[in-house]
Amino acid sequence: MATGKIGVTTENIFPVIKKFLYSDHEIFLRELVSNAIDATQKLKTLSSFGEFKGELGTMDVKVSIDKKNGTLTISDHGIGMDAEDVDKYINQIAFSGAEEFLEKYKDTANSIIGHFGLGFYSAFMVSKKVEIRSLSYKEGAKGVQWVCDGSPEYEMTEIDRSERGTDIILYIDDDNKEFLEQSRIDTLLKKYCRFLPVPVISGKEQEWKDGKYVDTDKDKVINSTEPLWTKKPSELTDEDYLRFYHELKPGEEDPMFWIHLNVDYPFTLTGILYFPKIKPNIDIQHNRIQLYCNQVFVTDQVEGVVPEFMMLMQGVIDSPDIPLNVSRSYLQADQQVKKISSYISKKVAEKLDKMFKENRQEFEQKWDDIEVFIKYGMLTDEKFYEAAKKFFLLKDVNDKYYTLDEYKTLIEASQTDKEGNVIYLYASDKAAQYSYIQGAEEKGYNVLILNGQFDQHIVGMLESKLGKTRFVRVDSETPERLIPKNDDKKADISPLQADMITTIFRTQMPEIKNTNFIVEYNALSEKDAPAVITQNEMMRRMKDMAAMQPGMNFYGQMPDMYSLVINTGQPAVKRILKDAGESVESLVRPIREEIESFNTQISDLRKKLEEKDADKDTINKQISDLETESGKSREKEETIIKEYAAGVPNVKQIIDLALLQSGLLKGEALSDFIRRSATLL
Ligand code: ADP
Repeated sequence: MATGKIGVTTENIFPVIKKFLYSDHEIFLRELVSNAIDATQKLKTLSSFGEFKGELGTMDVKVSIDKKNGTLTISDHGIGMDAEDVDKYINQIAFSGAEEFLEKYKDTANSIIGHFGLGFYSAFMVSKKVEIRSLSYKEGAKGVQWVCDGSPEYEMTEIDRSERGTDIILYIDDDNKEFLEQSRIDTLLKKYCRFLPVPVISGKEQEWKDGKYVDTDKDKVINSTEPLWTKKPSELTDEDYLRFYHELKPGEEDPMFWIHLNVDYPFTLTGILYFPKIKPNIDIQHNRIQLYCNQVFVTDQVEGVVPEFMMLMQGVIDSPDIPLNVSRSYLQADQQVKKISSYISKKVAEKLDKMFKENRQEFEQKWDDIEVFIKYGMLTDEKFYEAAKKFFLLKDVNDKYYTLDEYKTLIEASQTDKEGNVIYLYASDKAAQYSYIQGAEEKGYNVLILNGQFDQHIVGMLESKLGKTRFVRVDSETPERLIPKNDDKKADISPLQADMITTIFRTQMPEIKNTNFIVEYNALSEKDAPAVITQNEMMRRMKDMAAMQPGMNFYGQMPDMYSLVINTGQPAVKRILKDAGESVESLVRPIREEIESFNTQISDLRKKLEEKDADKDTINKQISDLETESGKSREKEETIIKEYAAGVPNVKQIIDLALLQSGLLKGEALSDFIRRSATLL
């Protein structure tokens, strides 16, 4: 028997392991099973090169629980170790400056393991004693036993052992009894070992007997050793991909399509990414992609490893070039990982481009389901935007699809405004904005439908990328003014008439909670509605954006601002103007003249104020008196018009029609409207 001190340069390696690795202590199983797999694979390799001439026999790895003795054993039939190997690989944990290293990385415990060959020692996170019993594949090798109780001292003895390979026996400590439960071990093996290349056995298959599950004699194999991504795409059918998908994500709907990744230069990477059907307004969920390193599960927290928008996809990525045991922040900073991320993004773009080119019709059919990926990708990944702008589609209200180039060609001639901006008209709700859409179409415009989760952002992005482009929602202006052109018709009414008509309508607007109206007028055609309600594009966008961003409550709480645009070309409005001209204009005119005279006096006084030795105090006082007088006159004017307007039933009727058209007429106001309409019949 030999005893000795483990060659790690620090006395406190075990306390460190126990303490800092505590949160992640379940990974000991991944480490030990990985070692067993490595030992197995090595022997297979030696055998294939003829360096090992013996029988390979069963080569599975077994994880067994002995509850009575409180042990968990990981056994393999791999290359095994002799005393010299144990000394070299286990006793001499050969790295310098261990203490310094541990100090530096104590918060990212994961990076200690593996990086410095501490995988085996993670066994001490859950054990009070660890035993190795091994027989090397080498001819004439003697069995060896190594025992260590967690202090830096170990015992090494020669033993009788006829079976090639290694048993690692963990005497589970009191704090970690959970690892003696088969169900806990099953869960861990399923998590980390599901796709390992060598069969991993733990426990027995069960069967339903006499009202409960009981063990059979059959060993339970945990993993599938040849997962789909390790196979050649040309050998696989759609059914294979779908079956694998459902194995990964039980209970989910079939995915729309998938991409099989397969590279070996400049890095090695395989994997399958699935595009699931995405329900509207999904949460960007994480852990949909699993990361493997040579079929060993590493993590499903892949932020920074795959491009952000791929968080929407599902599947697996396997790369030996992704460092297995490092913290996430380390992963994200890793150059290799960055390359992988941009490679995946490129591959996804290529696949979509191919689908678009090969079968545009089918691509269009899928568009509504995949747009969320593409839009999210374009918003978050500049390179992806560049690739995607060729197959990005805009859809109009008649369900026709256009690429960006096609659409520009379609609308450029008729939808360029007087400043040379191409105006992209869109609706967000076909039913609610029906009459606005119709109005725009009657003017020969095309209207897009943009109602997706990311469309507000897409609009902003396209405006800045395309240049000289504005997106305008159909209900933000009257059809006449959606695209300002030089031939704008001016309403030919006098300032007094303008004042009267806007006051007539303004004073009759109903109170709607959190909603303000500005009354404007415009000479539209006779056939157009007497009034329409519009909502300024910029104001609406600001509110919409605020609604999405926490902390922007200020905008969110602002009332909604609408315009009521009176069509002074419409016969009913013309009549109201004419009647008002005959009945109230004579009352209003002298007041108007009064107000104008006040205004002239005020502006004269203002000029005086600027003179050198003006008596500022006196003048200011005069101005403020005149303003009060003018205010009073305005009030007087408004009262007269208001009283008059209240007696003209058509005013309320026109307002309500406009409110009704834009979905703002509700509750009591709606039933008043219906009653009034009935009396007008
Ligand atoms: P790493 O696996 O990162 O090299 P470990 O501490 O897990 O670090 O293992 C150290 C070495 O011990 C391995 O490289 C291997 O040579 C040897 N070893 C560990 N487990 C086994 C095993 N089950 N069979 C054979 N050799 C093993």
